Amino acid sequence: MTITGYTRLAAVIGSPVRHSMSPAIHNAAFAATGFDGVYLAMPVEAGRGPAAVQAMREYGWLGLSVTMPHKPDVLAECDVVTAPAQALGAANCLFWSGDKIVGDNTDGEGYIRGLAAGLGVTPSGLRCAMVGAGGAARAVVRALADAGAAEIVVVNRNAERAADAVSHAGDVGRIGALSDLASADLVINATPLGMAGAGHEDAVPFDVAALRDDAVVSDLIYHPAETPLLRAAGARGLRRQNGLAMLVFQAAVQFERWTGLAAPIAEMQAAVSATTTS
Ligand code: NAP
Repeated sequence: MTITGYTRLAAVIGSPVRHSMSPAIHNAAFAATGFDGVYLAMPVEAGRGPAAVQAMREYGWLGLSVTMPHKPDVLAECDVVTAPAQALGAANCLFWSGDKIVGDNTDGEGYIRGLAAGLGVTPSGLRCAMVGAGGAARAVVRALADAGAAEIVVVNRNAERAADAVSHAGDVGRIGALSDLASADLVINATPLGMAGAGHEDAVPFDVAALRDDAVVSDLIYHPAETPLLRAAGARGLRRQNGLAMLVFQAAVQFERWTGLAAPIAEMQAAVSATTTS
């Protein structure tokens, strides 16, 4: 690609951020569409997120992806905050609407689009069970509720965080136990159990033997691509999906916010695959 005087800058801000797959995904999207943009990873120390938003405003950057620890504190610097970002108290994407900077959260929409694209599953009318209640779980619970899920049961060690996640489900949410998974259509793991490098590589968050024969198992983890949970789900013949779909589609939503173009999903997926297998 050729960088010119017209090339627009987008970046992910975070700490740490050098490990991020976002530069590979977004630069692949710019290349595939011919959009004159470049995407960098910018290490921004804790507490300096608002200064990065001021730089976006001052220098007219195309947009920002925001990761930990800045997701909550960039909100105050935005002119407009979308409903998901407001409800979750966290923005992962900043874009321009006219001369206003909008703070948005694309994780939930990315999850729903990834589920539909990968498995052809839409949450409307489904009984969903969410295992885990951290930031990712909250975003997905909210999106499932918005997409018309019939029930969302949250199962988590810490009861306070479970209640917080349930609060994003509106009328269809409740706190549950692992025994509730037996009746769920869609069971989601949003804990780090099974994730590489977290000390839980061999752990499974729940026993797939207890699930229905037609249950769908969704693991938000993308490294490794096949967690012990997904291996067990595959051995039982259950439909399953890893976290790469959510990763790619939340980036696709960001690309669309910034450029107004349809995201080149295949090229973004290929960029992730090249990163995870290299
Ligand atoms: P988080 O905010 O730290 O929340 C972690 C959740 O896992 C908490 O509910 C925690 O329970 C639970 N947990 C942690 N260790 C556990 C254990 N040993 N046993 C049972 N529960 C345990 O993390 P997060 O940001 O939500 O991320 C959660 C997972 O989603 C991670 O694997 C992450 O890689 C993945 N993720 C994927 C994407 C994607 O695009 N695919 C995006 C974001 C996150 P307590 O509340 O009881 O402590």
